[in-house]
Amino acid sequence: MSVDYFNLPPISHSPYGESNHTIVPLLPTIYPFDYAHGLRHLLPTIYHLLPSNAIISSIMTKPVILTGIRANNDLTIGNYFGAILPIIDMAKKHSGDYQINMFIPDLHSFTTPIDHTKLYEQTINNAKLFVAAGLPIDNQNIFMYRQSFIPAHSELTIILDSFTGFGEMSRMIQFKDKSNSVGADRTSLGLFNYPVLMASDILLYNAKYVPVGDDQSQHLEFTRDIAQRMNSKFNELFVVPDSVKNQHEFFGKDQGLRIMDLINPIKKMSKSDDSGRGVIFLNDNPVIAAKKVMGATTDDKAKINFDRDNQPGISNLLEILSLLQGVTLQSVTDQFKGQTNYGDFKKVVAGEVEKFLTDFQKKLVEVDENTVITKLEQSERDLTPIANATLSRVQQAVGLRPNTGDITRSEG
Ligand code: ATP
Ligand code: MG
Repeated sequence: MSVDYFNLPPISHSPYGESNHTIVPLLPTIYPFDYAHGLRHLLPTIYHLLPSNAIISSIMTKPVILTGIRANNDLTIGNYFGAILPIIDMAKKHSGDYQINMFIPDLHSFTTPIDHTKLYEQTINNAKLFVAAGLPIDNQNIFMYRQSFIPAHSELTIILDSFTGFGEMSRMIQFKDKSNSVGADRTSLGLFNYPVLMASDILLYNAKYVPVGDDQSQHLEFTRDIAQRMNSKFNELFVVPDSVKNQHEFFGKDQGLRIMDLINPIKKMSKSDDSGRGVIFLNDNPVIAAKKVMGATTDDKAKINFDRDNQPGISNLLEILSLLQGVTLQSVTDQFKGQTNYGDFKKVVAGEVEKFLTDFQKKLVEVDENTVITKLEQSERDLTPIANATLSRVQQAVGLRPNTGDITRSEG
């Protein structure tokens, strides 16, 4: 999911960064990570001199941008051009002034049925795909972690569940759409509950910015609602992420790029498509992917023209070609102006797809898996104490833990 997601006081700096604010003690014994360990590389010399809370303050010195893509299947060229590349550009552009939290929402992966034998490998592969696509994982402001490796995500979700209305979740458009298509008995509670998990994903790290597409806007609004609800009931527990409008202002409105299914070009290409015949997966054999292009649905107009309404198949192939060649849509359309032979046109697109996948897969093979796993584990160690600090505030507020005094979120 592009956890495509807060307007209390703007976080112009870390909610942990002010010396006059109290950080609640953590509960390190119940979490598997040596929470301070991961911070040592950031604070090599002063680590032993600092109390744990001060260590936490030092990591959260920048406002947080948070984003993730669901690892429910292999990713497609739609995900590549519509999400992976824009996320990498965003991370590179903002990593100086912001902390970038890129996470793999593995717990979100099976809200709808998946092949569980492939899930773990897929989460690692997703992380590798980002690296192959150019994500600089040596950047210390970019964190890359797996949701389920930081148990606070699940624990906060269970707590927030009890402050969330059944009706409120039932009105979520994504839930209605997906549950209507399979029926109530085949709809999991995980799918119903997924906006609450998404709210936890965001609130644990005090994220300010979460790039959201249209399908996730409602979930971001819910995140703001639950945060404000908890804040008014229990004092200021959470940082409320910016509004959808502010998100769009900050990231630029989703440009609406949609690569369509090759067989049914009025439907978006999706990684969870059952047949995969109209879908180009990043791990497709390049020759087979080229064949998928050759078999793409077109029309009988014998005109290579960009017209989504009347020539959706041809328009989609023109769009794919422009992305692969890195040139404007106008320029590819001009290349084929006056040509009438769809076969020749498809061969050009198929050739570019084959070349792109061959190059990309070569880069993917070159990504060192150990380096990626080390990055994931390091980020998980670094961020666990941040997430635990939020969870601990909430646990105290709702009475699960003794109140150690000030359970108010520290906020600049
Ligand atoms: P699913 O079938 O599981 O919903 P999906 O391919 O639609 O998979 P999502 O996980 O819903 O992918 O979305 C991940 C990101 O990829 C989002 O930012 C979304 O906008 C982007 N994206 C998905 N499909 C396309 C597409 N066909 N063209 C461009 N961007 C896409
Ligand atoms: Mg989708």
